[in-house]
Amino acid sequence: MGLTSTDRARTLQRLHARIRACTKCVAAGYLERARPVVAGSIRDRIAIVGQAPGAVELTTGQPFSGRSGAELRRWLAQAGIDEDHLPYRTAITKCFPGKSPTGGGDRRPSPTEVALCRPWLDQELALLRPRVILLLGGLAIDRFWGKVPLESAVGNVRRVDGVTYIPLPHPSGASRWLNDPAHRELLTRGLAHVRRAARALDRQASGRTMRAPRRTSAALPLSVARPKSADGRR
Ligand code: SF4
Repeated sequence: MGLTSTDRARTLQRLHARIRACTKCVAAGYLERARPVVAGSIRDRIAIVGQAPGAVELTTGQPFSGRSGAELRRWLAQAGIDEDHLPYRTAITKCFPGKSPTGGGDRRPSPTEVALCRPWLDQELALLRPRVILLLGGLAIDRFWGKVPLESAVGNVRRVDGVTYIPLPHPSGASRWLNDPAHRELLTRGLAHVRRAARALDRQASGRTMRAPRRTSAALPLSVARPKSADGRR
């Protein structure tokens, strides 16, 4: 007999507790201290997979609570997903990796850190069974889409085994990639895919859906403004 929704909710809570207690990268010498960050409910039908938390998230303990989170919320609003219905939020690695030694934003987690953290993400997705996964930035796209240039992935959508994958750039305040108008157009196309996927979930109307009231989303222009600054993370 399968797990009930209550069982799955409790199992996810226990999984989050185990993730938050993880110190594997400290033991392996990659981090001075671990503060894993993850958030979401078993009812979430959309999951966001980012790269890794930033310094602000280290303080708040909430994924996407810094400047990149504000930009992500703007993107989600353009796709009709409001603040009250934020998707499940996780990342390829769940601890702040520190600043890049070259000064170009946050350090990209090493392949070993990605491998150490992978079982957590695998367990989250196996339990949550999201219908839509938003891939934010290069590391998430590498893992679920394949190693391709960002411009080959963003703006496209792929369905595998009933799960819709939508690649997006990382919303870090940051991404020089978005300075190119052609790339912003790709993001606009990507957000249109998010909007369509969220509407399809609404029509299915089982579990938690992720849509803002229709009149709010309809009023928002579906275009992406040029980012204000750049720190190099894509
Ligand atoms: S990044 Fe992942 S594997 Fe490494 S300590 Fe944090 S939770 Fe554990």
